Amino acid sequence: MIPYGKQDINQADIDAVVAVLTSDFLTQGPMVPKFEQTVASHVGADHALAVNSATSALHIACLALGLKHGDWLWTTPVTFVASANCGLYCGSKIDFVDIDPQTYNLCPMALKAKLELAKKENRLPKVVVAVHLCGQPCDMKAIGALATEYGFKVIEDASHAIGGKYQGEFIGNCRYSDITVFSFHPVKIVTTAEGGMALTNDAALAEKMNLLRSHGITRDPALMTSEPDGPWYYQQVDLGFNYRMTELQAALGVSQVDRLDAFVARRHELAKRYDELLATLPVTIPWQHPDSYSGLHLYVIRLQLNKISKLHRQVFESLREQGIGVNLHYIPVHTQPYYQAMGFEAEDFPEAMVYYREAISIPMYQGLTDDQQDQVVSALRHALAGGED
Ligand SMILES: *Cc1c(COP(=O)(O)O)cnc(C)c1O
Repeated sequence: MIPYGKQDINQADIDAVVAVLTSDFLTQGPMVPKFEQTVASHVGADHALAVNSATSALHIACLALGLKHGDWLWTTPVTFVASANCGLYCGSKIDFVDIDPQTYNLCPMALKAKLELAKKENRLPKVVVAVHLCGQPCDMKAIGALATEYGFKVIEDASHAIGGKYQGEFIGNCRYSDITVFSFHPVKIVTTAEGGMALTNDAALAEKMNLLRSHGITRDPALMTSEPDGPWYYQQVDLGFNYRMTELQAALGVSQVDRLDAFVARRHELAKRYDELLATLPVTIPWQHPDSYSGLHLYVIRLQLNKISKLHRQVFESLREQGIGVNLHYIPVHTQPYYQAMGFEAEDFPEAMVYYREAISIPMYQGLTDDQQDQVVSALRHALAGGED
């Protein structure tokens, strides 16, 4: 089976992890800050907080921005559930903004229209989570301008987008957002097995997230409510969690980031090849905004169902039967039973539903060879062909 995504681990990665195993610290040592500095300086952010997953990073990002019971968090329906669940963890209410049919990202025009209405009804969002689907950045400039106009905070869920650029600058520099989040799950671009990171240019937000990732406990007298009792003293000043990343993960992360730019460059080579090889097939290939350099976590094709005699499901099944580990990113979050119970209807977000009925993620990862890619394309050609097979 050729998977849709796969980690790339080399001997340097293995050596880096093994070295930690025989060192003094398995957790809370020097590698986590080193990893944070490596990523922060690579992408151009002032502060970085490594945690045990992007889901945890989204949670503490929402808390640091003051999201609480009764507030609203808005995001796109075409994302992993974690982009919305982080609001529920804080007791907030969730709503969605439909996607742009060309980029598949949250549509800034739909956002503006929804904000105008929400302002009249006095239910403006406190936080908007902008997800860079497949690695292609959202229209952050437009979203940033709306944030200023309507007074909401912006989190970039860049789980797909590390190594990508928006208007010539690395995603993660938070130019148009308060906090950016990366995921290091093995299917993503660089991995720490499990892991995530929150980046910000705001020192107060960084300090708050630093507390929240480790029980809300501090050893810094400046953050305490009274003088320390003695050198053993720590205070719990907030209700935090254990969301810490281990030293093993951080060492793997430092080693992986060495190859980040090469990984993304290889993904671009593969995307260009797919673009050419698929040009004559009845599928819509990903559109790339000229302002952006995608991280290319995913390569999503959309079936032109009016031009083929097969169903979406049949094409998907045929690919799986032919050993191609295709996937679908994503089942729109508002159609999940947990969200349906809140009253969402599938057709509340029609562009997301049209996308869902046509999309298939085909293999895209740095280790994919040209030969394997040719295999994917011929399997797709076969799957799309009319008649029974
Ligand atoms: C993978 C992913 C997450 C969650 O990442 P974890 O590190 O697995 O918690 C969140 N949002 C998006 C868009 C993702 O793709």
